[in-house]
Amino acid sequence: MRFKKVDAKVDFPKLERRILKDWEKRGILKKYLCKNLNVKERFGFLDGPITANNPMGVHHAWGRSYKDLFQRYKNMQGFRQRFQNGFDAQGLWVEVEVEKELGFKSKKDIEKYGIGKFVKRCKERVFKYAKIQTKQSKRLGYFMDWDKGSYFRGTAKETRLANKVRGSYYTLSDENNYTIWYFLKKCHERGWIYEGKDVVPWCPRCGTAISEHEIVTEGYRELTHKGLFLKFPVTGKPKTYFLVWTTTPWTLPANTTLAVGDETAYVTVQQGDELFILADGREVAAGIAGKVQEKVGGKEFAGLAYMGPFDDLPIQEGVTHRVVLADFVATEEGTGVVHLAPGSGKEDFQLAKERDLPVIESLDEEGKYLQGFGKYSGRRATEVEEEIIKDLKERGFLYKVEDYTHRYPVCWRCGTELLFRLVDEWYIEMDELREPVKKVVQSINWIPSWGLERELDWLENMGDWLISKKRYWGLALPFYKCKKCNTFEVIGSKEELKERAISGWKEFEGHSPHRPWVDKVKIACLKCGEPVSRIPDVGNPWLDAGIVSFSTLIDPQTKKVSYLTDKKYWREWFPFDFITESFPGQFRNWFYSLLAMATVLEGRVPFKNVLGHALVRDEIGREMHKSWGNAIDFDEGVERMGADIMRWMYFTHDPETNINFGYGPADVIRRRFFLILWNCYKFFVDYANVDRFNPAKELDPKGKKFTFESYKHSVLDRWILSRLNVLVKEVGEALDRFDVMTATFAIEEFVVRDLSQWYIRRSRDRVGPTTPGGEDKRAAYVTLYRVLFTLSKLLAPFTPFIADEVYRNLAQGQKGYQGGRGTVTGAEASVHLVSWPDYHDYLIDQKLLGDMLLVREIVEKGHSFRKARKLSLRQPLPELIVKGFPGFRSNYQKGLCALIADELNVKTVTLKEGKGKLIVEFDTRLTDELQAEGRARELIREIQDLRKEKKLEFDDRIEVVYPEAVENKSAVAKAGEFIRQQTLATSLKPGRKLMIRQVKPT
Ligand SMILES: [Zn+2]
Ligand SMILES: [Zn+2]
Repeated sequence: MRFKKVDAKVDFPKLERRILKDWEKRGILKKYLCKNLNVKERFGFLDGPITANNPMGVHHAWGRSYKDLFQRYKNMQGFRQRFQNGFDAQGLWVEVEVEKELGFKSKKDIEKYGIGKFVKRCKERVFKYAKIQTKQSKRLGYFMDWDKGSYFRGTAKETRLANKVRGSYYTLSDENNYTIWYFLKKCHERGWIYEGKDVVPWCPRCGTAISEHEIVTEGYRELTHKGLFLKFPVTGKPKTYFLVWTTTPWTLPANTTLAVGDETAYVTVQQGDELFILADGREVAAGIAGKVQEKVGGKEFAGLAYMGPFDDLPIQEGVTHRVVLADFVATEEGTGVVHLAPGSGKEDFQLAKERDLPVIESLDEEGKYLQGFGKYSGRRATEVEEEIIKDLKERGFLYKVEDYTHRYPVCWRCGTELLFRLVDEWYIEMDELREPVKKVVQSINWIPSWGLERELDWLENMGDWLISKKRYWGLALPFYKCKKCNTFEVIGSKEELKERAISGWKEFEGHSPHRPWVDKVKIACLKCGEPVSRIPDVGNPWLDAGIVSFSTLIDPQTKKVSYLTDKKYWREWFPFDFITESFPGQFRNWFYSLLAMATVLEGRVPFKNVLGHALVRDEIGREMHKSWGNAIDFDEGVERMGADIMRWMYFTHDPETNINFGYGPADVIRRRFFLILWNCYKFFVDYANVDRFNPAKELDPKGKKFTFESYKHSVLDRWILSRLNVLVKEVGEALDRFDVMTATFAIEEFVVRDLSQWYIRRSRDRVGPTTPGGEDKRAAYVTLYRVLFTLSKLLAPFTPFIADEVYRNLAQGQKGYQGGRGTVTGAEASVHLVSWPDYHDYLIDQKLLGDMLLVREIVEKGHSFRKARKLSLRQPLPELIVKGFPGFRSNYQKGLCALIADELNVKTVTLKEGKGKLIVEFDTRLTDELQAEGRARELIREIQDLRKEKKLEFDDRIEVVYPEAVENKSAVAKAGEFIRQQTLATSLKPGRKLMIRQVKPT
């Protein structure tokens, strides 16, 4: 047999596209998914859902590469698994994109269009992008249960759209939504669900509250606003002012109170004929210079009355403006006198509740002033800044204006600056839940370990969980509040709703539990009997993603959510062994919601190990932005660099730090690792074909246990096989502790330093047509075959394409070959259907491994020596002397010395044992013989170059004419046979210049 020829100019992306087609044709994915169906041991992976709202980005490929790596590894190890991808399908992110598609500006446009039609468009968008993301994921080499699955339900059109990707779970599924209902009912039974008035961050464009859970790292932007210094007259003290500082001029019409610090010292400064009150030490920043009249504590001002700038507005009627003490007054910036608008600030509102201060509500859903704000009413808060400043000036309140740059929260979906608005929202109270969740979190293995601190920190500081959104596309919160008597109830299931329905069930039946259909159903108030509608709000999408450790385990027999029935199937998988996601943001989002929901329902962890990774940046460490022109689309990236290289780039990166992703780094990896791996593979195939090496015949035909003694293995073979077994051991151990980087670098170092730069380099003369056949040649092939074959299996979870290419070529057609556990040959062959390789301690020769390190140190020093003295490596030297040699520990001194002699081209190696520094020297005296040999080697190289130039095959014979200089004649006379043998020359004749001619085979 012959191996398939290996292309010298490999195009990795092209190779991958061919393999993808081949996998599809031969049904490899299905066989992979079914490989361990009957195994008892499980490895439970739970996928954090990807938002199916846009094409996948290169940043998604990081986590998805990890997910695929560990599932492949565990599959090779023989664990039963679920291969369920997840799509996050509900929520504002989808709505915003559909609004863009339809050119909508506000919620009014949606209502005009029709909520039902809008919600359908949202669903369609999800299915469209789920399909695109599925295709992209497949291109990454990601093996998941993409095409099977049966629990999706929808209209005919939706089903058709979803058909291709049904194996995945969708958070829009009935199962998911009703399981959240069940969870919310449990919370309600413990009295944790409440409706509360609070000032919350609000997006005026989206018309919804943004919960603090959502204002993640990306929820802030560096923005420049106006910083205003204002003069508020103290009532009853002419020409005396509180100097007030604010960065939100739009809140001034709703000012009701000023706050000063109870522990803060204040000065009264005379400037001209005016007196200014401000915190001691803030004069310079405020631009106040003058004589300090008085210095007192903040307490002195408590209860003083003052005049606000817009007291004439109707909304201000009856408000008494007073100074109060507060503990949040800071003096690092501003003036230490804080303007409070309790309807427009979170801390302001808290204080107002505690002290019973007046509260003025100022904005509507769209961020426009309510009635009572005079000329401002009906106008957007964001548009009146200039006018307010002008009014303040006219009214004598303005002291000065500066630009002020700070981190300010923006809407994470649409980028609009958030306002703070007083609203009624629904919450889950966290007081009773906080400690139990904190306890549960401790038993999780966080990688990196500081994840635990971060999660605890969040749990410690989080407020109650705001779960409602005044939007359309999302979980229908099953809250029913009676307008007549205010009784509210939580419905826990579809069945319960049906039972309680007094009208509208017929219109709802057959629809998913979404707006507007679910809202047709009315129930009777338990207390007063009045018909009650569902509150219009939808749920926070993190409820959707947090429930998946319960809702996605569908009993294969009953097709129902196992957790809501007998829990049997669910118990087989919960808690999950492993999740992996990008760390930033998830502590307060997915991790948090998973943990909170599992704690409420089960009081224990939903997952045991979590691997986090950082963020993707561009090549030089900047954030990627389409508008900056430095973003890389996944499709373009994967076709240009190849999926294997993209994966390797992520795998070799420390997950704790941001990665600089790009074509430059990809090319470095291609040259640093992939081309070297490819050349090792090519070396084997080229020579094995020429020498007609047949593994089926050579390798252990009866499946005998492999030992070093099976062949007359040289010391080099024994060494590389030892290294190979060490590698298998190290990679497995690293993956078992989810340490991908260590595993990946171990493979890379083995291939580059050990296999390529030493084993193959030192084995070149052992194979090929210039070397006679025999035990050593066979041993070299057997060894190299073993190494590459095992390596293809080790690489399979990391680089699924190149691994399968190598594996299939080596395994093809070898019916009789027992290649060890889990070998599949013939048409069935794929590395993704085989077992993870074993290692054997008895094949690891520790002494030899240590000795080889010493050999390589000597060789390196020898090369430096020759280089420094410009002694060509082709010129044989009589002797190498090694001083301070510590001695070999293995019994292979002869073989090891031969390696040194061959590598450094010396006739003898003399080892002088001793302590101290290792010193390497050469005897450089040349005899005529040595000079002739050196010249012969130069000639050989020149002839080989010509063979390459003429693109001759390895085994083509040639006739050689060499330049008739004296030294050449003498070289040919002394080493002609050597030259002929090395160059496959049938004749060597002197002539004018060097020429070769191929001898046609007879
Ligand atoms: Zn928004
Ligand atoms: Zn009622």
